Amino acid sequence: QPELWSDDFNDFICKCLIKDFELRPNVLDLLQHVFIKQIVGREKILQKQLIELIDLNQQIGVIEKTRHERIHTKRGGHMKTQTDPDEVDDLATLEVLDENIVAEKLQIRYGRDQIYTYVGDILIAVNPFHKMEIYTPQYTKMYIGAKRTANPPHIFAVADVAYQSMVSYNTDQCIVISGESGAGKTESAHLLVQQLTVLGKANNQTLQEKILLVNNLVEAFGNACTVINDNSSRFGKYLEMKFTCGGTVVGAQISEYLLEKSRVIHQAVGERNFHIFYYIYAGLADRKKLAHYKLSDSKTPKYLCNEHIKLGPDIVSNTFYKEQFDAVEQCFKVIGFTLEELGSVYSTLAAILNSGDIEFSPVATEHQTDKSDITNISVLDNVASLLCIRSDELQEALTSHCVVARGETIVRPNTVEKAAEVRDAMGKALYGRLFSWIVNRINSLLRPDKDDKGLNIGILDIFGFENFKKNSFEQLCINIANEQIQFYFNQHIFAWEQDEYLNEEVDARMIEYEDNRPLLDLFLQKPMGMLSLLDEESRFPQATDQTLVEKFEDNLKTKSFWRPKRVDLGFGIHHYAGKVIYNASGFLAKNRDMLPADIVLLLRSSENELTRKLVTHPLTKTGNLAHTKGKGINTMPSFLSVQPGEPGDTPYHPRETTNMRTQTVASYFRYSLMDLLSKMVAGQPHFVRCIKPNNDRQSNKFDREKVLVQLRYTGVLETAKIRRQGYSHRILFANFIKRYYILAFHAHEEPAATQETCAAIMEKAKLENWAMGKTKVFLKYYHVEHLNLMVQQA
Ligand code: ATP
Ligand code: MG
Repeated sequence: QPELWSDDFNDFICKCLIKDFELRPNVLDLLQHVFIKQIVGREKILQKQLIELIDLNQQIGVIEKTRHERIHTKRGGHMKTQTDPDEVDDLATLEVLDENIVAEKLQIRYGRDQIYTYVGDILIAVNPFHKMEIYTPQYTKMYIGAKRTANPPHIFAVADVAYQSMVSYNTDQCIVISGESGAGKTESAHLLVQQLTVLGKANNQTLQEKILLVNNLVEAFGNACTVINDNSSRFGKYLEMKFTCGGTVVGAQISEYLLEKSRVIHQAVGERNFHIFYYIYAGLADRKKLAHYKLSDSKTPKYLCNEHIKLGPDIVSNTFYKEQFDAVEQCFKVIGFTLEELGSVYSTLAAILNSGDIEFSPVATEHQTDKSDITNISVLDNVASLLCIRSDELQEALTSHCVVARGETIVRPNTVEKAAEVRDAMGKALYGRLFSWIVNRINSLLRPDKDDKGLNIGILDIFGFENFKKNSFEQLCINIANEQIQFYFNQHIFAWEQDEYLNEEVDARMIEYEDNRPLLDLFLQKPMGMLSLLDEESRFPQATDQTLVEKFEDNLKTKSFWRPKRVDLGFGIHHYAGKVIYNASGFLAKNRDMLPADIVLLLRSSENELTRKLVTHPLTKTGNLAHTKGKGINTMPSFLSVQPGEPGDTPYHPRETTNMRTQTVASYFRYSLMDLLSKMVAGQPHFVRCIKPNNDRQSNKFDREKVLVQLRYTGVLETAKIRRQGYSHRILFANFIKRYYILAFHAHEEPAATQETCAAIMEKAKLENWAMGKTKVFLKYYHVEHLNLMVQQA
């Protein structure tokens, strides 16, 4: 029997109440009738706390009861309770570690709807593919400031650890969520924000509400239905929640990476355009405003037509889309966008949709046969009116282009193909820039009032690893980004930790892990890495996608790269997550990503402020409008404050651009990755590994092979080993003593920063299995929590 009101006693009660369902009624009875009576009038505070605890746990009890009953019914009465010997919340505590055991444990847990499992301090989340009742306010409360072992593993616990570490150690935190497409990263990111806003107890309700809406808003513009995931992120997102040093949430900032703009003009079979296009169509139809935005209620815009998805009137009267449109509009308004801005956003979207329908036909004249003309002038007029530019000038900019030769400007006609390319480039550029503008505007609306140095918790949710039937430039970039995140994980979990053992002469068994550094070099090395070769080839006007793959083949001499036989323009890469065959068709054009200068200049003359903004100052200020000798302007959208090798604040001027460097997608991508990493390494990382249990998006289906592959490539087994054998926390003697000396010394004492002092503290705390280095104390992940709790109670 633990002593009344001791820590052990509290733990005991919590465990009984939360874990052991069978025991709960007895425990409650005991508490309410025996202990509370004993303390009446003496320890009022404890009594109140206890009643709250009972109340909370009664509520949880109801939830758990329902859950247990559901599982019980589903499994024909073979209900297992959480006290089974099979029960393992933390894989790092397993006696025997091999991949089959790990997969089996996860499968057993998944079968009981226990989707979360720890591997030491890392959380594994297996996608349940059905709604779960474990994110309610009761659960929110249950995970606030709780000891990790007191509750089952949960995403809220990760939010709590990050938050408590931020406040206790005054350091920024970073939560990295990884997993393949459809594994549950975005859902996890939402849940983290939800919990962090509660933890950060925003002083005003509106700020809390705004932060919660940010994800919904950017995802309406940046997510789309793919063959893998109905709500697939088509951009990378790093959301930083800003806090005061005391831990109150005061704002948020988003960085977006590599939006897949090509989706605006073309979607693969079975896929769709960005959600917002469908929402706006249905929403405007509902408000009888389609005509105002020059959209037809009977003919589907070409950019939304997909051979396998019949839309047409279907989108117009789709109730789900209508509701989503209302929700998005509400997000805009709550976050603080003005009605005028909203109107301009809708006009831009409608202009993009209309522009896709502009058609060209060849015009044969006496001297020239490669001229083109627009066949549907009314559509052209619609686009021009929505963008507030002149229709004849738009026609000119689409069907011809200017070249500067020997100081003279000559106008050359565009072929039908060229004109269509310019039209599509305009659609992509407008969308990409609109997206960046929205993100930038959100950032200015949610920037903390005071510019004081607060703290932040970043949440990284990027597009997951992809391997389609046909993989293009977009998949290459997405997979390189995932490769980089995996590398970051390896560095943190294995490389840096093991380096420290050697440096500090700590005796620990080394764990072997799959180092993907050679792959990163293959992509990012200068000057012979894949992205550099791509950039080099993009500079040659005569280069083709064929010459590009040949260049790859000639220069990339590694087993991870190969040319498959009988696949035109094909090349294979053996990524950390598997083999992918890419098709280089369109690589050069996608990398150059040019928007003709004529179009940019025309858009700058718009009478609409937003249209002008999309192509002028804020973008040029960040150096995005690099210009190549009168040929075109790179369309990379971003409002990042620094750009690599760009002219910084120099305002863009079209006639002064000849010495400006062109920025290709590849070079911008490389820069974005570095920018992201620099943000991430500034904080203490926490990892969430999302696992997809099957390819059919089915609940209750655990495809063991599929899971094993993911466990293997993410190194879960090795992580469990290093968490069991290794020391994830290494703290300098002086810091350790500053934080924990109170556990072994009097407040006024100033013990020396030595091994002996540290050892005395650890012994006093009755902790085992730690190690002492030359300058640091080496602790297991669970030691730190224990020490912190002891300090709080000291
Ligand atoms: P992508 O890389 O394509 O963006 P993702 O990893 O972000 O994929 P999500 O969009 O988060 O994947 O998840 C895919 C779907 O799985 C969700 O739309 C949802 O239906 C389901 N899902 C994921 N996590 C959960 C959860 N915790 N509870 C219930 N359903 C979930
Ligand atoms: Mg996602």
